[in-house]
Amino acid sequence: TQDMQGNVCVVTGAARGLGRCISETLAQAGAAQVYACDIDMAPAESWLGGYDNVSAITLNVCDSNALSRLSARLLEEQGRLDVLVNNAGITRDALLGKMTEADWDSVLDVNLKGVFLMTRAMLPLMQIHQSGSIVSISSIVGTDGNIGQSNYAASKGGIISMTRGWAKELVRGGAQIRANCIAPGFINTEMTQAVPQKVLDKMTARIPLGHLGEPTDIAEGVLFLASQRARYITGQVLKIDGGLVL
Ligand code: NAD
Repeated sequence: TQDMQGNVCVVTGAARGLGRCISETLAQAGAAQVYACDIDMAPAESWLGGYDNVSAITLNVCDSNALSRLSARLLEEQGRLDVLVNNAGITRDALLGKMTEADWDSVLDVNLKGVFLMTRAMLPLMQIHQSGSIVSISSIVGTDGNIGQSNYAASKGGIISMTRGWAKELVRGGAQIRANCIAPGFINTEMTQAVPQKVLDKMTARIPLGHLGEPTDIAEGVLFLASQRARYITGQVLKIDGGLVL
């Protein structure tokens, strides 16, 4: 498809995994430019060269000064932003009794505060033309919880409630700025490769479609929500989980 024709996009956590696949999918769909942002862009060296419409930006989503610099650069180079994909995220799993404050703080900082800071920094670039689409990557853990993930569940649940607020707030004055979430189930990336095989086998047995998802399954959902095909959809959570949570 060419659903991103002429659109300027920003993707966070874009070097590898879901963010890489999302960036490539938006670029292949005709985006004018995809700004692929990551705290560590090194893994992107293997795939960036294939695109003349992807720019690599090394940036920490928790660093508001870096976000201001990105905003200034976008204003100068593009004068606008159409699509923001908040994808950067980390896990620091532990059972509640063993979870440290540092585990809590780092996950909430990157996964929740990072989404707030990034969206706050990018919003003025959407308000210039009174339209845009914000797609934030939550998780089914954010809606349903999970053992050993107090911090992660809180951060991903927070993204959903924040998004619902934005769906109401960002349209004031008639602006067509939409905000939605994707809630992936278990997708085959480095994040899930860190999960013990025994746990993965148990999870897989509970997935109605019988297998893990692939990054492209998530990227297709992002492309849809980002595009004008979803122009009347805002404040929603799209689960892409093979039917795991029903
Ligand atoms: P991943 O660990 O493979 O990739 C995450 C990327 O984010 C990495 O490149 C990392 O460097 C980057 N990142 C981390 N902290 C950052 C920061 N402070 N600033 C900028 N970039 C930062 O993970 P993934 O599996 O591709 O997951 C992507 C998103 O999808 C995450 O938000 C994750 O919580 C969510 N998710 C993943 C799954 C899954 O099964 N893989 C399921 C549900 C939700």
